[in-house]
Amino acid sequence: GGARVTRETLKQEDVFIAVKTTGRFHGTRLALLLETWISRTKAHTFIFTDTEDQDLSSKGYNLVVTGCESDHSQQALSCKMSAEYDGFMASDKRWFCHVDDDNYVNPEALLSLLSAFPPESDIYVGKPSLDKPITAHELLEGNKTREVRFWFATGGAGFCLSRPLAEKMAPWASGSRFEQTSATIRLPDDCTVGFIVEKRLGISMVHCPLFHSHLENLLLIRQRSIAHQVTLSYGMFENKMNSIEVKGIFSKEDDPSRFKTVHCLLYPFTSWCP
Ligand code: UDP
Ligand code: MN
Repeated sequence: GGARVTRETLKQEDVFIAVKTTGRFHGTRLALLLETWISRTKAHTFIFTDTEDQDLSSKGYNLVVTGCESDHSQQALSCKMSAEYDGFMASDKRWFCHVDDDNYVNPEALLSLLSAFPPESDIYVGKPSLDKPITAHELLEGNKTREVRFWFATGGAGFCLSRPLAEKMAPWASGSRFEQTSATIRLPDDCTVGFIVEKRLGISMVHCPLFHSHLENLLLIRQRSIAHQVTLSYGMFENKMNSIEVKGIFSKEDDPSRFKTVHCLLYPFTSWCP
């Protein structure tokens, strides 16, 4: 008989999308995402926050209330990333993707990116925010330190891990170990993921230009390429609003992030689109 060449095609529901947010952003940043891209990915999107929200839970969103502190400290953010990782590991999904609550995710672009990787391979894909690897000082026994260099994907641009790789990360990432690893290098959660993948496992990150954070100049994304981008962002950069440039019905006042405009471009039949 002939070899079986059909492999399971990746489906939207195979992707675990973790959104990191915090109580005070539920009504603002998160609400914008729920109206836009999360309306297309609700069943496989998991919202990691620090505050109960009856309104959200009653509407059927997957809300995960972590016991993490609700501040911007390295510890609080690592605690949330750790919860995201554990949540994914307990699921039946094939890919873990993390985004912030100021990211727009294009689910189709994400799926085509992930589908292009060989199934069952060890993949860590995202975009670095620096043009060179970060240098960390890993704490060793007896208060010694060791300099280590590695690439990491900016959390604010979003990144993904394949399940086989996520499984291999468990000795440094599961349960309380993620926060311990983060403390070892004294760097934030996204750096910790890079450290585990590149230095503990010796697997190189895949650099992908389709992820975007507000640490880069978003005006440089060409309007015609917007539908191909996997993530977008908005926010303040050097005291100015940094957002993508896209023409549409919504004014900059009505849609400063441009997420509504992008959403109507991608899904023109959405009820509230003009
Ligand atoms: N965040 C959080 N707790 C906080 C502050 C921020 O979980 O106390 C989350 C926030 O919802 C977002 C991410 O951390 O998903 C990054 O926060 P923000 O965009 O405000 O800051 P940035 O690091 O991008 O400047
Ligand atoms: Mn941000």
